[in-house]
Amino acid sequence: MGRLTGRLFVLFTTCLICFIAYSSQIFVLWPWYGREFSVELLGLLLPFNILVGMLLWNYRLCVITDPGGVPSSWRPDLNDMDGYEVKKLTRGPRYCRTCENYKPPRAHHCRQCKRCVLRMDHHCPWVNNCVGHYNYGHFIRFLFYVDLACTYHVTMLTKRVLYSTTFWEEPSGRELIFIVLNYATCIPVLLAVGIFSLYHFYAVYSNTTTIEGWEKDKVATLVRRGRIREVKFPYNLGLRRNIESILGSNPLLWCWPTVPPGNGLKYQLADGDGVDVGQWPPEDPDRYLYPEDDPDHKLELPASPWTYANGSVNPDLRPTTTGTARRRNPARARAKAAEGPYASVPPYHPDYHRQESHETYPVDSEDEDEQYADEHPGRRREFLRRGSEGYEVRPIDREELLKQYIVDRTAEPGRYQLYVPDPPSEPESGPEAEDEQIPLAEKLERWRATSA
Ligand SMILES: [Zn+2]
Ligand SMILES: [Zn+2]
Repeated sequence: MGRLTGRLFVLFTTCLICFIAYSSQIFVLWPWYGREFSVELLGLLLPFNILVGMLLWNYRLCVITDPGGVPSSWRPDLNDMDGYEVKKLTRGPRYCRTCENYKPPRAHHCRQCKRCVLRMDHHCPWVNNCVGHYNYGHFIRFLFYVDLACTYHVTMLTKRVLYSTTFWEEPSGRELIFIVLNYATCIPVLLAVGIFSLYHFYAVYSNTTTIEGWEKDKVATLVRRGRIREVKFPYNLGLRRNIESILGSNPLLWCWPTVPPGNGLKYQLADGDGVDVGQWPPEDPDRYLYPEDDPDHKLELPASPWTYANGSVNPDLRPTTTGTARRRNPARARAKAAEGPYASVPPYHPDYHRQESHETYPVDSEDEDEQYADEHPGRRREFLRRGSEGYEVRPIDREELLKQYIVDRTAEPGRYQLYVPDPPSEPESGPEAEDEQIPLAEKLERWRATSA
């Protein structure tokens, strides 16, 4: 997201908050109370304005507070035997290939911020900032105050509407418009933020970031499939300590903006309770290990898509006649190679050079016919057709196959009783033989003559 778009999101959010908060007071509640100050009005609006003030303050803190980046000099502490990093070293320290630096546990790279963010939760477009170690508390408080303020706001509006139906004091046209507009904006915000905040309150309860939530889901799937054994989530310290690690140790200040404890580079771990906390997230044993997982690995493409990484040609893609031609006539093969490295038509491979002129067979097919006749006496040479994928298709002679099958099956003595028809016994001489040779039409004529 561009810088301008991000700022527009923040501007839009601020305008929305201010519209809901102040249009309802100015155009609905103020006229309702007769446009003059009273203790009742103050009692109604003061708590609401405190909530709105806290909401805006925490929103501002979310936007301007740096969630925390990884210092360029930071290295995993290899000597800390209690630390999580050492246990994690069974798989190697965490490394960000984009930042080309090590990253502490719970830190992740944000593509929008283009850096690694400490205890990254998610990148939030509404605050145009990453939500991480230093502003997650502000974010939670912001959601909390949105929930409270919106609920208070909807309650005030509903009271106004109910008052008009009870006492037949109908609101004016302008009041009515603003009542409808405030409902139409506040209720969707309350629903959306309400559901979102329930998720985040549960995340605070379990000391889990959004990213770790996805990791937990993945681990649960692996355990369910029996691929790995159950692994305890290492940062769940119990309800009280989980909240303290985000909102501070003093419960009286949990709703007040404070700086979170710790520096975000190292986190307290739960006691094992006999359950392994060795590695988070645990590795999928069947996972394909990408060579890029090695920080020293440099991805290099082979010189040609037709070759393996070691430079050799994929034998499955080599034309049938190439090997023979090279073997039998190295001089001609060299001459061909000298004509140019690549063919001018697809698939642009040197081995395809001669195929471009729509020749059905290579020019030296006569030589090969001779060779084939020598090697397979009495058998017609079969040519292979090459499909578009490069697979070779051998022509099938079904009749030949069937004959061969019958011969094979009947070769076993005693397996089948073969029906051999008797040869028709043809009389070779005598009156019957003579009779056989008379055409039927003539016979009919004779029969008519005798019977008449
Ligand atoms: Zn990074
Ligand atoms: Zn970010």
